[in-house]
Amino acid sequence: MTERQLLIPPYHETQVLLHSCCAPCSGEIMQALITSQLEITVFFYNPNIHPRAEYELRKQENKTFAEKYGVPFIDADYDVDNWFARVKGLEQEPERGRRCSVCFDLRLWRTALFAHEHGFKVFTSSLGISRWKDMNQVNHSGLQAAQTFPNLSYWAYNWRKQGGSQRMVEITRQENFYRQEYCGCVYSLRDANQWRQQQGRQKCRWQR
Ligand code: SF4
Repeated sequence: MTERQLLIPPYHETQVLLHSCCAPCSGEIMQALITSQLEITVFFYNPNIHPRAEYELRKQENKTFAEKYGVPFIDADYDVDNWFARVKGLEQEPERGRRCSVCFDLRLWRTALFAHEHGFKVFTSSLGISRWKDMNQVNHSGLQAAQTFPNLSYWAYNWRKQGGSQRMVEITRQENFYRQEYCGCVYSLRDANQWRQQQGRQKCRWQR
């Protein structure tokens, strides 16, 4: 594996709240932060994930991995009604479109609120490590969320660089993480199934 460099969060903070979307994306980030001797807490707030069984699967896997490293894991609400209310009217948007901005805004604002209420000065997210995501879009939501609260910074670090993407794949393989077949929401499941059908492939395990 490529060697990691020591990471320094904004203002040299030693405590970091990490919003995690799933174990495959946050595994490498957690290890990178631990290697840098930072005190981390994982915050799992992803009411976008559909169906509930998929949500529980992703959450449990992330929780198990956090426990392995003795990292506190915050299991936040699955307030799915709130998520659906926010994205109303954006059902037909493509991935990386306006629905995703709203989705990131909600998840990172909720993370920022928790950080504010629990004395964290810095938070970051695993959302941007995936090559399927628009990193600028994720960072924009994170920076905006941080501005809502005093003395709070969003750490817009590029987790893909310095071998991060490669290590993410390697850790996923080593840990035998469940490999999700779509981004998370019911609309991404619909689109993934449509694409699979066009390619003559089997549909995702969940049907829409
Ligand atoms: S495609 Fe992914 S990021 Fe976009 S709205 Fe759905 S779950 Fe959120």
